[in-house]
Amino acid sequence: MSKKSSVAIVGGGPGGLLLARMLYLKGVAFTVYERDESPVHRGQGGMLDLHPGTGQYAMKRAGLFAEFQHFARYEDQGTRLYDKHGLLVYQDDASDGDRPEIDRSQLRDLLLQSIPADSVRWGCRLTQAVPRDDGTFELRFENGSVARHDFVAGADGAWSKVRLLVSDAKPRHIGLTLYELAIDDADTRHPGIAALVGRGTMIAKGDGKSIFAQRNANAHIRVYAALPGEERPGFEATKESLAAQFAGWDGSLLQLFDAAKDTVRPWPICALPVGHRWQSRAGVTLIGDAAHVMPPAGVGGNLALRDAADLADALTGDEDRTIAVRAYEALMWERAATAAGEAMQAMAAGFAEDSLEATMKRISGVA
Ligand SMILES: Cc1cc2nc3c(=O)[nH]c(=O)nc-3n(C[C@H](O)[C@H](O)[C@H](O)COP(=O)(O)OP(=O)(O)OC[C@H]3O[C@@H](n4cnc5c(N)ncnc54)[C@H](O)[C@@H]3O)c2cc1C
Repeated sequence: MSKKSSVAIVGGGPGGLLLARMLYLKGVAFTVYERDESPVHRGQGGMLDLHPGTGQYAMKRAGLFAEFQHFARYEDQGTRLYDKHGLLVYQDDASDGDRPEIDRSQLRDLLLQSIPADSVRWGCRLTQAVPRDDGTFELRFENGSVARHDFVAGADGAWSKVRLLVSDAKPRHIGLTLYELAIDDADTRHPGIAALVGRGTMIAKGDGKSIFAQRNANAHIRVYAALPGEERPGFEATKESLAAQFAGWDGSLLQLFDAAKDTVRPWPICALPVGHRWQSRAGVTLIGDAAHVMPPAGVGGNLALRDAADLADALTGDEDRTIAVRAYEALMWERAATAAGEAMQAMAAGFAEDSLEATMKRISGVA
C-alpha cells in the first residue's frame, strides 16, 4: 500500500479528527489510522468544556461551531465544592460562562461525520514508524498492514508510538490515580445525587483525597475518586473498596459510590516532563497528548484541538512545509509548557493538606 504525498494522522481522538477535518476542507489528502476497531468500540469518557481561545477557536476554524452549539451545554458550567462532611463551601452556577460542556462521544461523532467515512482506517494500531532513505515514513500496524506517507502527524495520545521518531521522553505516573464510576438516569432514579452534583461539576475534598462528579448529557453522572499513591494500588478497585478509602466522609458523598454501576475504570495519571520538546524533524510532528500529556486540569482536550488547527494551517499554507511546521512547534511548545506547569501546580495544591482552601481560592479566582 503506497500513500506517498498524503498526510498520515495516527490517532482519531479530538486532535487527530480536528486535523483531519481541516485538511479535508483544504483538499489535502490524508488518512486517519485509529486503533479502535470501530467508532463504538469503547466509551469515550466524560465531557470536555471547550474554551474560547483553544477548543472553541478550533471548532470555528473547522467550520463546525454551529454543530458544536447544537450539543453545547451552557447550562452545565456550574462548580460546587464540598468538604468531607458534605458542607457546601463554594458554589458558582456560571450560567453566563463561556466554557460550555460537550460529551466526548458527541464531539467524536460530530468530528467523524465531518470527514469522509473511508478516510478513517479502524483497527489500525501503529506498532512502529520507520524513516526511509527517501524521506518518507513506513507505518507498520499490528494487523499486519503497512502504509507509506511523506508526512506523519502523531495524534496517538499519551503513549504515542509516533513520538519515538522525535523524542525518548515517556510519561511518568505523578502519584495520583482517578477511578471512574458511572450513575445512569440520575434525575429520575437518584434525585438526591442530581441535587448534590448540580448543573456541572462537584468536588469534595478532605484528607488529601477528592471525589469529583460531573453531570453529562441525559442526566448521566460520572464520578471520579481521586487517590494519591502508587500506579498499582494495594487493593482491587471496586465501588465498595473505593468507598472504604473515604471512610468517615459524610453519607451524602458516599451515596455516589452506592448508586454507581459496578464497573470501575482506573485512570493512572501520567504526564510528560513540563516543557517537553524535541529537535524538529522534517516530515513528522505531534499534537495533543502525544506532545504534552499533562495532569487533567481541564485543558488537555482543548490544547489538542488548538494544536490540530494550528498544524492544519502550517500544512496547508503557502510557506515551505518544514519551516511552517517548525513555527507551529515553537508556538505549541510554549503554550503547552505554560499549561502543563499550571496543571502540575494545581495538582500539587489540590492534594496538599490545605487543599480545600487552595481549591476554593483557585476556582473562585482569588488566588
Ligand atoms: C480523567 C480525565 C479527565 C479529563 N478531563 C478533561 C477536561 O475536562 N478538559 C480537557 O480539555 N481535557 C481533559 N482531559 C484531557 C484530555 O482527555 C486529553 O488531553 C485529550 O483527550 C487529548 O486528545 P488527543 O487527541 O491528543 O489524544 P486522545 O484523546 O488520547 O486520542 C488518541 C487517539 O489515538 C488512538 N491511538 C492511541 N494509540 C494508537 C496507536 N498506536 N495507533 C493508532 N491509534 C492509536 C486512541 O485510540 C485515541 O483514539 C482529561 C483527561 C483525563 C484522563
